[in-house]
Amino acid sequence: MTNKRLIGGLVIMGITLTGAMVIRSVVDPSRRLGNHRGETSGAVTTNPVQIMGTRCSLTAVPAKGQRRRAQRAVTAAERALRQVEAHMSTYLRFSELSQLNRAPVGEAVKLSEDTMDVLRLSRTLATQTGGAFDVTHLPVFMLWAQAGKAGRLPGEADIAAARAKCGWDKWKLLGDGAVKSVDGAGFGLGGVAKGWAIDRATETIAAAGCTGALVEVGGDIRCFGKPDHKDKWVVAVQNPFDQEGNDFFGTLAVNDAAVCTSGNYERFSIIDGKHYSHIIDPRTGKCVDFAPSVTVVAPTAAMADAWATALSVLGPEGFSLLDAGSGIEAMLVVGGPTDYRIHETPGFAKLLDKPIPRSQAKEKPQSAINFGGDAGAKRNPQ
Ligand code: ADP
Ligand code: MG
Repeated sequence: MTNKRLIGGLVIMGITLTGAMVIRSVVDPSRRLGNHRGETSGAVTTNPVQIMGTRCSLTAVPAKGQRRRAQRAVTAAERALRQVEAHMSTYLRFSELSQLNRAPVGEAVKLSEDTMDVLRLSRTLATQTGGAFDVTHLPVFMLWAQAGKAGRLPGEADIAAARAKCGWDKWKLLGDGAVKSVDGAGFGLGGVAKGWAIDRATETIAAAGCTGALVEVGGDIRCFGKPDHKDKWVVAVQNPFDQEGNDFFGTLAVNDAAVCTSGNYERFSIIDGKHYSHIIDPRTGKCVDFAPSVTVVAPTAAMADAWATALSVLGPEGFSLLDAGSGIEAMLVVGGPTDYRIHETPGFAKLLDKPIPRSQAKEKPQSAINFGGDAGAKRNPQ
């Protein structure tokens, strides 16, 4: 594992680095076969670059005779994504989040309504997940980032010192800003802001009167309505162990839904020969690495994104925290390439239109379906 890979792993928002990412959720497998007939002839698709350090695809399906309007809608959606990044990236020195993180104890920093909304949502999620999802984890996250670069594990005392700066009790949220009570406290919104931004972009396209939209950033997706000439959007869930990106567990056919994946298989560091993920268990200050991929379907991308990270920490035991009426369904892949197991909520299994092979330990990993390879599907790598 290289530092480059580690840094890449830390780039959720803000800077662009090289290193192709394998797609984890792919929209419309027919594209991967080079079959563009199913592609929405009247739809407008753009692939803006340098958004949150990853690839991006915006599609708007125009209402009849409204193609120009759809074009303006995708431009506005791109602006919405960039605005979220400008506010909430910790990789942009002058984002409002970076300014807040640098601010001294007791100094109230004014924040946009966007950032306030994400912080309030994150605080609620911290409660719902029993602290497994916690955006106050930044001091511990930075400690592990430095450890990865140095190739040296942090000591228990370092972890304890970093943890002492974490927790919502170190923060006060005001109506239009926030203030910290402990020096070095900081927020990291990498587990939720991308999803939240995808929601804003999708809503922007919907508000322009389009009949369908699909927004994808780094393999996280939200869609609404219908593609041209098809009833549903099709999202393929990738086998995280297939680095070629050819192998899928199954497909989800959806209209209005978000599908997000968290993975420690792509983004990690190796220290002393051991794998360390970029997902932190805030309750212990340690990295979690038992779930190479967690895919969540939810009504909004913010929820799908955050719950994918939360369940990466909690494992399948976390399923019990999902409210029955929330519309959130999840699939976890745990284990390694040769002995992985799949855990899913009953609702997820129903959504998947190609059944997942119920993997037994020792069973050779295989996908339910294989759509064939197409390196071109790795659009706009980091
Ligand atoms: P991505 O969506 O970019 O693939 P993930 O969904 O796997 O990334 O989320 C990982 C990111 O979430 C980390 O890079 C970090 O910014 C943040 N994060 C890590 N652990 C936690 C946690 N326990 N709670 C909230 N956010 C976290
Ligand atoms: Mg995520």
